[in-house]
Amino acid sequence: MFLKKTAAVLLAAMTILGSTSGALSASAISADANVKNPVCINSLSFRKLSNRKIRIYWSGVKDDRVKFYYVQRAELGSSSWKTIGRIRSDGNRSNGKNYFTDLLKTQAHRRYAYRVKVKVADPENYYPAVGKAYLASNVKVCIDPGHFLKVNPGTYGYTEAEAVLLTGLQLRESLKRSGIDVYMTRTDENISVGDEYNQDNGDQLFARGYIAGAKKCDLFISLHSNANSDGANDCDTLDQPKYINKVLVFVNKAAYKESSRATRKAANYIGRYVTLANKAHGIYCSGWYTSSKPQVYTDDELFIEYNDSIKQKGKLIYRKWGSDDYYAVLRGAAYAGVPGMLVEHGYHTYPGYCSTFMDDSELAADYAKAETDAMLKYLF
Ligand SMILES: [Zn+2]
Repeated sequence: MFLKKTAAVLLAAMTILGSTSGALSASAISADANVKNPVCINSLSFRKLSNRKIRIYWSGVKDDRVKFYYVQRAELGSSSWKTIGRIRSDGNRSNGKNYFTDLLKTQAHRRYAYRVKVKVADPENYYPAVGKAYLASNVKVCIDPGHFLKVNPGTYGYTEAEAVLLTGLQLRESLKRSGIDVYMTRTDENISVGDEYNQDNGDQLFARGYIAGAKKCDLFISLHSNANSDGANDCDTLDQPKYINKVLVFVNKAAYKESSRATRKAANYIGRYVTLANKAHGIYCSGWYTSSKPQVYTDDELFIEYNDSIKQKGKLIYRKWGSDDYYAVLRGAAYAGVPGMLVEHGYHTYPGYCSTFMDDSELAADYAKAETDAMLKYLF
């Protein structure tokens, strides 16, 4: 055993040194014989299973170097790690991954740091090293990139459906990095939620929101860019002035009725932060979001005035249709009991919006950051 190990170390040392002569001194050999290799777990993922269950996953390849995995958890901002689970190296596996389910004592939204340490099976040759920490929570967001295929073309090759898909995929990454689980109604150009395929009719729109409940989501967000009426502001439809480019955020009935007002506050900050992103990218956006109190609109003429007018500022809006939500996606989420919002990031009827989005790949990422930051302020 010892001889075999020494030979292997010698071979490794020769490889590292690029030596082919074998002219290594005896001291080099004995020093290298003590070298141990680190074993650490550096790639975790997670899912919210329920309000009280967060499941942490890591590599599932059977690792003979490992005797036990220790799952550890820390409060955010703390360096005090607590071991919450011990898993044998041939233990829990799901879809080829090891996992451990953290059972929370509360249903309230919680976010923690997690890491996995190991006890090595062969301490002579290996030692446990500390792996990377990951954030995870019992909060899940349903992202609905509006429309499908290349619906709602603007100018410069922009289409609303493609732009909001790009933004949605960026938002998914940003939320997951921040420890928030995500379900997406579509991850490519097609939408097949509900009984329909690639439709913008009421049934499929409702289903896009309603599925947020079945997927145990805590928040629904539908991503869009806006268009105003044909020939508004005495300009061609696809040649609207820069000053039309405001951000509108609509909340649904479930958000409007929410006693904590958390979704309204998050939506208000999304309006502010998306507005700031547009401003940073030079597509001026009139108006600032300063209140978490959404204005209720039931009058369509008044709404068209808000949509088309270069004088009306961006707003947080609860748009009603009878006693329900005007927008079918928001109505679907409300019927599933999920507070939701619909974000109009800008106007694809303003050519500068389309050219900026197409030329500047940072804009979608900045929207994702704006939305993540706003959610983190109020979801926990
Ligand atoms: Zn849309």
